[in-house]
Amino acid sequence: MDAVPTGLFIGGSWRPASGGATFPVRDPSTGAVLARVADATPEDGIAALDAAVAAQEGWASTAPRERSDVLRRAFDLVHEHEDDLAALMTLEMGKPLAESRGEVAYGGEFLRWFSEEAVRIGGDYRTNPEGTGRGIVLRRPVGPVYAITPWNFPLAMATRKLGPALAAGCTVVLKPADLTPLTTLFLVELLRRAGLPDGVLNVVPSRDAKALSEPIIADHRLRKLTFTGSTPVGSALLKQAADNVLRTSMELGGNAPLLVFDDADLDEAVAAAMQAKFRNVGEACTAANRFFVQEGIADAFTAALTAKVGELRVGRGTEDGTTLGPLIDDRAVDKAAGLVDDAVERGARLVTGGQRVDRPGTFYAPTVLDDVQPGSDILTTEIFGPVVSITRFATEDEGIRLANDTEYGLVAYAFTTDFRRGQRLAERLETGMLGLNTGVVSNAAFPFGGVKSSGLGREGSHEGLEEYLESVYVLTP
Ligand code: NAD
Repeated sequence: MDAVPTGLFIGGSWRPASGGATFPVRDPSTGAVLARVADATPEDGIAALDAAVAAQEGWASTAPRERSDVLRRAFDLVHEHEDDLAALMTLEMGKPLAESRGEVAYGGEFLRWFSEEAVRIGGDYRTNPEGTGRGIVLRRPVGPVYAITPWNFPLAMATRKLGPALAAGCTVVLKPADLTPLTTLFLVELLRRAGLPDGVLNVVPSRDAKALSEPIIADHRLRKLTFTGSTPVGSALLKQAADNVLRTSMELGGNAPLLVFDDADLDEAVAAAMQAKFRNVGEACTAANRFFVQEGIADAFTAALTAKVGELRVGRGTEDGTTLGPLIDDRAVDKAAGLVDDAVERGARLVTGGQRVDRPGTFYAPTVLDDVQPGSDILTTEIFGPVVSITRFATEDEGIRLANDTEYGLVAYAFTTDFRRGQRLAERLETGMLGLNTGVVSNAAFPFGGVKSSGLGREGSHEGLEEYLESVYVLTP
């Protein structure tokens, strides 16, 4: 823990907050304080923006190959420090160590992918249709970016933004979540060691996100806001961004349907459903939130899934054999418990779980609910916990209607061995991503993002880079 920076990173050096204040970061599996982190003031936020603005021109004109090399070295350093990063993540967030290592692999990939994209930023040259002029379209960085990240994937949510922003030539002010800032701070230190010039990346942890963010977002020198977090906060930030006509990317909440059709491969569907639901203790925007299972396979699916749920080992993420860690805090436990109680009151059948785990820390038992009834809060609310909610359906049309009956549209999962049905689902489900016979869709090479209230824009793939570039068109005779 001594090697982990706990300050603000502004203009290339670590420093305390200007007010001298710090806030505690806790281990959710024990409640113990792991470290105290500098609590940036609004003045610190503007100092970070000053540094990003000052570095913008130099970074934008740095050779793409040099930007690429920095990102590639950062990728290598992330892998060299895999054990440190994974341990930090498990301590401050709670997920089992094996999953933290998985996040290091996934999150690191955005540094490598965008190091490769940095040298492939193209342009265009064309004769106009009238034949009277020649147009050149060049692509240049948007400018200084403000990035706000959530607590649930403290490494990957940062690299998903930093990789493309830095590759494009944008400088960044980053605000990590106050519940899990340590992994992100260590990542920033690795980027510094990789040779990132002073001021290109600045980090301002803060307990008062609103007070810190408002002046940054209102500052006309800022050009772009990128946010990952809940839909209500994203919506509030969009309103603030409108005053400054900022470019925005919004990765917001989800309410993923998971459809199992009668013709699904049962073992494959159950294994994938376990991943889609219990990865990250269910605290993922991509977590399967609503299971819709066709009547012919429903009994077999519920029984097989419940058996697998029985094999989960609840415990501290650092303990050998743990497959399900704690939830992030008491509020998260109360929320899961409240949703389960409401569903049972409205007629759902509690198959297993349904209570807090009696041990220190914020644990909730893995839970399966069957026959969840329309009108239950669990069908409209992001659970963010280890709770399976199963509703049965009869026809494909009914399944699709149920899946689309939500304000969200981030990801959907579907299990069927009928290829034509898979095509119909891809065309009819209101979603930004579809896992067809798989429970994990996240990959740096593909565009991650949602439709409806799940957000605007994409992260990953060449589309992720586009979010940080703008076009300038030059006409010549
Ligand atoms: P949150 O919206 O509470 O917080 C996200 C970030 O915004 C944190 O850094 C927080 O400090 C900051 N924040 C909160 N209020 C703010 C304000 N008024 N002004 C500026 N910043 C503010 O979300 P969370 O609880 O940290 O994360 C969970 C949510 O994130 C879930 O809804 C989940 O679905 C979503 N999420 C989405 C994706 C995606 O890619 N779509 C990925 C991960 C998480």
